[in-house]
Amino acid sequence: MQVIRLEAGIYAANCYLIYESDSMEAIIIDPGGDSDDIISRVEDLGLKVKYIILTHGHADHIAGVAELRDYFNVPVAIHKEDEPMLRDSDRNFSSTMATGEIEIDPDILLDEETKIEFGGLPIKIIHTPGHTPGGITINIENYLFTGDTLFAGSIGRTDFPGGSFEDIIASIKEKLLVYPDDTILYPGHGPASSIGKEKSSNPFIV
Ligand SMILES: [Zn+2]
Ligand SMILES: [Zn+2]
Repeated sequence: MQVIRLEAGIYAANCYLIYESDSMEAIIIDPGGDSDDIISRVEDLGLKVKYIILTHGHADHIAGVAELRDYFNVPVAIHKEDEPMLRDSDRNFSSTMATGEIEIDPDILLDEETKIEFGGLPIKIIHTPGHTPGGITINIENYLFTGDTLFAGSIGRTDFPGGSFEDIIASIKEKLLVYPDDTILYPGHGPASSIGKEKSSNPFIV
């Protein structure tokens, strides 16, 4: 499995283009803008995009979704509890942000029972509420794509409507730190990390 990190959109949230090298099947996580760049990368590599998956519904992670869905004609997936946010520009904050208004109807509503894959690789959905009610972490092989739940050296904000500090700490401790220390973390903002590194040095966890 190959992972390409792109800082997408005016807010430069991490967008991940992930593909399996035999089938060249791919998924896109959190396209926050710069759709043309993402399309060029996909076409240069000859990838077959299968899903667009969103870690949560905030504008900085979804601003490129509509263009990419139109271009690739693939389903957009988000956790069922963040669906209202994706559909409503006030709730996803785009009504007051430089992205312009974003309102998207998702194609797939995720929960922890959802079974999806690309190139034979299972995509495991871990519900990690706290930053938003329907925030998820996406597990593929020994990688965790944590969205705005867990960052290198920090955690996501919990002061937005629907946020909860207790919930985000419980999500991290009970659902993420249970992974082996060498599990690679790819967060929604900033550099990559690992479970072991965060366990030993993240001030919100230690
Ligand atoms: Zn967010
Ligand atoms: Zn964010």
